Amino acid sequence: MKLLLIVGSGDLQQFGKIVIVRRNWYSPIGIKIMENLDNQYLLLTPGPLSTSRTVREAMLKDWCTWDDEYNKGIVEVIREQLVELATGVEGYTSVLMQGSGTASVEATIGTVVPANAKLLVVNNGAYGERIGQIAHYLNIAHTIIELGEVAQPSAEQVAEILDSDASITHVAMVHCETTTGMLNPVEAVCDVVKSRNKIMILDAMSSFGGIPLDIGKLGIDFMISSANKCIQGVPGFGFVIAKQTELEKCAGRARSLSLDLYDQWLCMEKNHGKWRFTSPTHTVRAFHQALQELQDEGGVEARYQRYASNQLILVAGMEKLGFKCLLDKSLHSPIITSFYSPEADEYDFKKFYNLLKEKGFVIYPGKVSNADCFRIGNIGDVHNEDMHRLIDAIEASMYWA
Ligand SMILES: *Cc1c(COP(=O)(O)O)cnc(C)c1O
Repeated sequence: MKLLLIVGSGDLQQFGKIVIVRRNWYSPIGIKIMENLDNQYLLLTPGPLSTSRTVREAMLKDWCTWDDEYNKGIVEVIREQLVELATGVEGYTSVLMQGSGTASVEATIGTVVPANAKLLVVNNGAYGERIGQIAHYLNIAHTIIELGEVAQPSAEQVAEILDSDASITHVAMVHCETTTGMLNPVEAVCDVVKSRNKIMILDAMSSFGGIPLDIGKLGIDFMISSANKCIQGVPGFGFVIAKQTELEKCAGRARSLSLDLYDQWLCMEKNHGKWRFTSPTHTVRAFHQALQELQDEGGVEARYQRYASNQLILVAGMEKLGFKCLLDKSLHSPIITSFYSPEADEYDFKKFYNLLKEKGFVIYPGKVSNADCFRIGNIGDVHNEDMHRLIDAIEASMYWA
């Protein structure tokens, strides 16, 4: 028996709820203060993001990884829905992989590129740089196009390198470079890569589910994303949507046991959604709920519209307050935006951050090496009215102005 007493005062409700539990016939009545499980602030970050209460509540149950309820009823459903979200073209399949998004990138690079092959990495930010680091760690031959952090790659550049080095077999690029918020020209680059019959790997971590894209139409062979970005799940696993005929060539290529993308896929295919090693069951269940909520919102197009309008409200409000965007507007994605830090001597990011956090908003430091900036994301369970409230909170937190 469990009795929940909610204390009347608004102030007390902020702190928590008093729960009186009759434990069993011989123990005394226990009283405990439960933490308020609603979010106290919005995460305006590159991930993990603010999730809905219903997504978080989906985790309040334990699951057996051996049961059909979990494997067929949750994992297989997710795998199918992911493929549907990614493309209308036949021949694609999906694999889920434990770990943060980087683990899925590493699993893909490490499983897909054969020993005698060569990878071209397009690098215009921290996540492109990371793909190069992965290739280095795994001893994979590679060439990096170094663009710095504020330049967009061009398809002509990629074409030139592919035409001058025939040993390159695979190309990897980030879709939305979360370092700055820049959207890379995926259609044009894929065109160049596929017309030369190379394998295309796209890190669409921070854009998949938030920006419409049919990977089959572009001929993308492997696309990587994770649970805690635009699908608005909680962190714990990543996933890869793959052209099945290409994935099938990858048996025995992996450079790591736990990150063997092919073997993970084979296990899921043969055993109806069974993961090879312990799966993050609660995260997976929450993701299933998050996919339902994406559908309820109206799918990727509707979510894109929400994010895009969030971003426009953010930029218009910030510019009115005197902030300047790092990138030209033509390069912006609707995912995250970088702003130059104010030049005033009194300005200190940590202090600004704390003032905003007190008002219910968490922003993020910049990651650009040669410019002092900070970032504000607008993905997650964040809505237009939140962005308007944020602008008011920022105005009230400009202690240096
Ligand atoms: C978030 C993100 C990743 C993965 O980061 P993790 O911290 O490993 O989850 C990779 N690439 C891009 C573009 C990202 O935005």
